[in-house]
Amino acid sequence: MTRIVIVGSGVLGITNAYNLLKENPLNEVTIVSQNFPTDFEFKKVYTSPIAGANWESFATSDDKFVQEIDTVGYRKYQEFIKNRPEAGVTARKNTNLITKEAFAKAGNVKEIPWFGKGKFGIECGFRELNKSEFDNEKFAYGFTFNGLVIRTSYYMTFLINECWRLSGASEGPNARFSIRRNSIKKLSQAFELHSSGKCADIVINCTGLLARELEDLEPEEKKKIYPVRGVVFVAKNNTGLKDITVVELDLDDEALYIMPRREGELIIGGCFQKGVETKYVDDALRTRILGRCAHYLPQYKWDDLEIVREQVGFRPYREGGYRIERKGHIVHCYGVGGAGFQSSWGCVEKVANLVAEVENSCKL
Ligand SMILES: Cc1cc2nc3c(=O)[nH]c(=O)nc-3n(C[C@H](O)[C@H](O)[C@H](O)COP(=O)(O)OP(=O)(O)OC[C@H]3O[C@@H](n4cnc5c(N)ncnc54)[C@H](O)[C@@H]3O)c2cc1C
Repeated sequence: MTRIVIVGSGVLGITNAYNLLKENPLNEVTIVSQNFPTDFEFKKVYTSPIAGANWESFATSDDKFVQEIDTVGYRKYQEFIKNRPEAGVTARKNTNLITKEAFAKAGNVKEIPWFGKGKFGIECGFRELNKSEFDNEKFAYGFTFNGLVIRTSYYMTFLINECWRLSGASEGPNARFSIRRNSIKKLSQAFELHSSGKCADIVINCTGLLARELEDLEPEEKKKIYPVRGVVFVAKNNTGLKDITVVELDLDDEALYIMPRREGELIIGGCFQKGVETKYVDDALRTRILGRCAHYLPQYKWDDLEIVREQVGFRPYREGGYRIERKGHIVHCYGVGGAGFQSSWGCVEKVANLVAEVENSCKL
């Protein structure tokens, strides 16, 4: 048996738990977290429930590491779409429109994402739009592919339920999975929190942005972690819009993206504000984001848009990119920025290899 404590129940913590339980029947997993997906409110940062979320890899054309990670995610979500409707993942066309201003800013060079090229382009149904498919006054070009929307709260609850299913029992000596609400100050504390009452063999750090508050994280690591604030509006979809639609602007910290969920809602965003930590949304930002809907997509009905909720979240970025690294009996898995859902399955594969390394080195 390998006793594993995962700190954090964001998408990374929960996906790690599921993967470790599924891949090795000898793993016993306890998630220790200050927040869970079913919480109504959270005083500290908890990013995953706020996300939209879709799959549109941010990897640059030479970033093979993240491309490989995101490919694993794309395939996994396609499996859920096909076989597990209860997972909360829905197929949607994903259409990007690049404004003339954004095109000019890029030196009038078309930026086709890596997943639109080579064999993967065929796999995800990628194609460039014909000029007749978009407003030539506003947009320079566009592309579309077979995308998806994840309803994050359903999805994370689904994964937790899958963990219980794999566990074999909900409590007692036969239960391989358990959850404990607790806030730790140091990762070293987490070794004492395994549900068996015995010291854990491995601790996996999935604390997202709050990793920078852990007392025993390396000081130089803490400096690398920073938030990128996002604001999204949840609205009733009485507009007629059916595809995920992304309008790329000539701004670094704002874009228009809209995700229609199967429950008849739209997620409308957004912004990418580096280092901004406030939950306050000023009127000017709200007006800019919502105003872009009618300006760029006048073919839909925006006059009676009914906003249900406004959500503010903090993407957990890290200088140097994702940290998936083992230090002795601790495995770190954080710093995934704006890509936690699309990258989660690829990240947890790598974590499982690091866990196996500990198991082999100590013959657990
Ligand atoms: C507006 C917005 C839109 C987004 N859209 C997308 C999208 O479309 N696609 C996509 O892939 N990603 C998207 N993201 C990014 C995605 O949400 C994040 O990358 C992801 O949620 C990060 O997950 P995480 O598990 O690392 O962190 P979190 O979800 O923040 O989870 C951290 C967990 O650790 C716990 N924790 C922290 N410190 C401690 C401690 N000391 N003791 C105990 N527990 C602790 C917390 O309670 C929490 O459970 C979006 C983000 C935002 C804000």
